[in-house]
Amino acid sequence: MNTIESIKKKGYEVETQLKTEIENISDYIFKNPELGFEEFKSVEFLTKTLKQHGFEIIENYCNLSTGFRAEFSCGEGPNIAFLAEYDALPGYGPDKVPGHACGHNWIAAGTCGAAIVLSKLKEDFKGKIIVIGTPAEETIGGKVNMVEANAFDDIDIVLQMHLESNNNLECKTLAIDCIKFQFTGKAAHASSHPEEGINALDAVQLMFAGINALRQHITSDARIHGIITYGGDAPNTVPDFTEAKFHIRAANRNYLNLLTEKVTNCAKGAVLMTGADLHFEKFENSFDNLLNLSSLQNLMRKNLESVGVTKFLEGGKGATGSSDIGNVSQVCPTMYTELALNIDEMCFVHDEAYLKYVNSEEAYDKLHKSVKAMVGTALDISLDNMILKSIKEEFDILKRK
Ligand SMILES: [Zn+2]
Ligand SMILES: [Zn+2]
Repeated sequence: MNTIESIKKKGYEVETQLKTEIENISDYIFKNPELGFEEFKSVEFLTKTLKQHGFEIIENYCNLSTGFRAEFSCGEGPNIAFLAEYDALPGYGPDKVPGHACGHNWIAAGTCGAAIVLSKLKEDFKGKIIVIGTPAEETIGGKVNMVEANAFDDIDIVLQMHLESNNNLECKTLAIDCIKFQFTGKAAHASSHPEEGINALDAVQLMFAGINALRQHITSDARIHGIITYGGDAPNTVPDFTEAKFHIRAANRNYLNLLTEKVTNCAKGAVLMTGADLHFEKFENSFDNLLNLSSLQNLMRKNLESVGVTKFLEGGKGATGSSDIGNVSQVCPTMYTELALNIDEMCFVHDEAYLKYVNSEEAYDKLHKSVKAMVGTALDISLDNMILKSIKEEFDILKRK
């Protein structure tokens, strides 16, 4: 009878044998950067690779043209899902071409790599190994559509890792609402007949003024940031249409709902002051905050330490953006981990300079550690029922709060 530790060791050896193939996934996606919902080459490459290793593929998963689900069944046991991402960011360099400055090439390689390594342990692993290909993380957030389509109802555990500036098991992501406000006024000559006009630009400016006053009275982890996307055509005409887009963020969904209402009230106040009409709507999916489970964090910490990753950021510090994995974590126990690149230059994800590192030898070193730690964690969950039970208990308690 193999012990879990000896099976993990076998997994690490398989990972080493598949080293080049896993690096090639990162390399291919990095060299073929595609924007959200246009990731056709990436999806073709990933599904072809997984199919070659015996995975069954569902294309256009949840009606998303660049979403997919790949499954490899190893009998009775938990369904463990690795969430691949593969969308790039727009506009780098003089030609403003897309680039993988968020390292989603690395995520694709790590998640698919871990699933492929586990599939070679089919004599030992119990359950289903699943890769869910989740498009457009940087824009719409394809995972939100997947959550709404109940894609995670049959999943027991979700695993994913991301490159960042620190090793972090307690990542925080903020809940976010993305709202577009449109004001409609009445055009008039701004000098000869201003009294005939209703100024939509005044409305948008008064909305900003209201929000600037509101900022003093919100919790320190909340963020409100917006731009005017349309401000009028000519200075001698009273603007009859203006538009602003806002991102509103907070540490949890309940507070964010209150804050979004307050921001919307600023727009409504501007309507009262100017007489303009208001239309507002969400222009991208809303994300929820990430739900962290200490039971999963402790398990991942143990597995990362056993492959040489130490020194973690403690106490929930670190960057606070927003991600669609937050929505997944609200419906299914999720372990989202950040791994640091050991680089001298001071740069962060989304910086142009970061493009130099996300497909480098250093990134590959962290990639192999990431795959091994996810394989180890999946084996622990698959082979020890008590671990899954305690994770689910913690999840249920947190969801009841
Ligand atoms: Zn990003
Ligand atoms: Zn990212």
